[in-house]
Amino acid sequence: MSSITDSLKCIKQQIVQAAAQCDRNPDKVRLLAVSKTKPAASVIEAADAGQRAFGENYEQEGVEKIRIIRSLRPDLKLEWHFIGPVQSNKTRPIAENFDWVHAVDRERIAKRLSDQRPEGMQPINICLQVNISGEVSKSGVAPEDVLALARAVSAYPNVKLRGLMAIPEPETDPVKQHEPFKAMKALFNQLQENGFDVDTLSMGMSADMVPAIQEGATIVRIGTAIFGARDYGGK
Ligand SMILES: *Cc1c(COP(=O)(O)O)cnc(C)c1O
Repeated sequence: MSSITDSLKCIKQQIVQAAAQCDRNPDKVRLLAVSKTKPAASVIEAADAGQRAFGENYEQEGVEKIRIIRSLRPDLKLEWHFIGPVQSNKTRPIAENFDWVHAVDRERIAKRLSDQRPEGMQPINICLQVNISGEVSKSGVAPEDVLALARAVSAYPNVKLRGLMAIPEPETDPVKQHEPFKAMKALFNQLQENGFDVDTLSMGMSADMVPAIQEGATIVRIGTAIFGARDYGGK
């Protein structure tokens, strides 16, 4: 048996276990179900199993899925997180349709999201993506620039800075998996010490969820372990 409902139950048990191992309250670790490339029907199946927060990476695919699900199932009150890289010409549909954006890595994106957030909606929740593994090609703000960017984005009224996000370089050594997460937790603490009202550390995916939780993740972003492998069909 490998239905979405069963996989969700299994992941939630793993979250509870990982939290227990390090004396954390499992309620402080939210599960974000990453539904990119998966059909609306899979999201609805997960929602009917009690899942509320969903993550999408691609603006067009995500917005279309949100619209389909809102029209098919207006009863479902889902929370939508944009977790992909944000191009500045795609900020408007994101500001109009999503509740969270995890990968803000420059001030210009925060400004556009704030300017384009429709009147009457709550400020959009944002996390700053940190390039914690220091890879040249990856997006994310450098660790030493996090405080300055946090100050800059805090000036915009329609975005709410919630915390930090990272996608560390894949690492199979379970001991080494902890290092970037530990560094993220230190940056998060630094933000709090500097007076920022942040509560979110978005880190950990299917392959490294447990070490992320042990180092302080408050949102884990899980796709494959819930919905199965993704088929990009040459995309
Ligand atoms: C795809 C993706 C995930 C989920 O990855 P899995 O390995 O399938 O759990 C999490 N975060 C981001 C930013 C992603 O792009």
